[in-house]
Amino acid sequence: MSAPRMPIESGVPDPFPYMHPLMRKNFGNWSWHDRPRPGVLHHVAKSGDAIWTVRAGTQRQMDLYTVRKLCDIADEFAEGFVRFTIRSNIEFMVSDESKVQPLIDKLNQEGFPVGGTGNSVSMISHTQGWLHCDIPGTDASGAVKALMDELHDEFVNEQMPNRVRMTTSCCQINCGGQGDIAINIQHTKPPKINHDLVANVCERPSVVARCPVAAIRPAMVNGKPSLEVDEKKCICCGACYPPCPPMQINDPEHSKLAIWVGGKNSNARSKPTFHKLVAAGIPNNPPRWPEVADVVKKILRAYKEDAREWERMNEWIDRIGWPRFFELTGLPFTKFHIDNWKGSRSSLNASAHIRF
Ligand code: SF4
Ligand code: SF4
Repeated sequence: MSAPRMPIESGVPDPFPYMHPLMRKNFGNWSWHDRPRPGVLHHVAKSGDAIWTVRAGTQRQMDLYTVRKLCDIADEFAEGFVRFTIRSNIEFMVSDESKVQPLIDKLNQEGFPVGGTGNSVSMISHTQGWLHCDIPGTDASGAVKALMDELHDEFVNEQMPNRVRMTTSCCQINCGGQGDIAINIQHTKPPKINHDLVANVCERPSVVARCPVAAIRPAMVNGKPSLEVDEKKCICCGACYPPCPPMQINDPEHSKLAIWVGGKNSNARSKPTFHKLVAAGIPNNPPRWPEVADVVKKILRAYKEDAREWERMNEWIDRIGWPRFFELTGLPFTKFHIDNWKGSRSSLNASAHIRF
């Protein structure tokens, strides 16, 4: 009899076979840890075993040669084990303190800065972008690389009042996270519809249902079934573009970047918070995005100089207030920063009904 067909597991793989043996042995039995220097963590287990973790920044989207280089460093200078953090930093584990400095030297020599721990500006977590997703309006990983080149000193040192965790998101609606500073795409014009393609490509009811403000209606255009957008209602969110690519919203001139501050995922010291918009309409200007770097550096400078020790970005702003935030950062405060929209109850698409 043939063997029964087993399900294919596609969840998170079992991490234990890939773990450093010392970590496997002491799993759940760690006693204390400290940070001997930026970029190095030192954990001591109840058994007395100690392990040093060296953290280095990567460019995240790596070619095969770079991955091989990092693996060779792990084999030659560490103990053959690596792991990646959620921010795409790579970590090497060693059980002998004397291996730490040669490993750091090798990483630095190969162009991988060691840092990103504690009160540093760690790597920016970013969404997938062009490589994996079909709806980006910008290259999130490119903006990350350009910005981290400028913030190198803040990555390799721990000189901020508290940790600074930044995020980028390449569309307005999906997988970006909350961050002390977040850089997100911002569309400023309604989608342009290619009516010749809509009937063949889009399932019209699901596109209509997608719109959060019920701005899309079915329509006949040039004798063909298509869609139309009430541009007065449209908030340029881009949610109609994924199910209907002929509703093109990405635009080299009108898709901008916006910067938000004060988001936080953790429960440490204060509740998690949503970030708030502080700069909008910034040009989406590859390959170095200098206008974004300028705003981010202004915010970081003000935070570094004015926040008290251990204050996260949101706690600092809560203490000084928004007027002072705009004064200290020098960012313009406009009427668009005031959230006075009262239309949600009557116009937000809060029902599952499809509108025809
Ligand atoms: S943020 Fe949007 S465009 Fe970017 S990877 Fe996520 S879903 Fe795709
Ligand atoms: S889904 Fe968003 S972008 Fe598309 S029409 Fe509605 S509000 Fe405008």
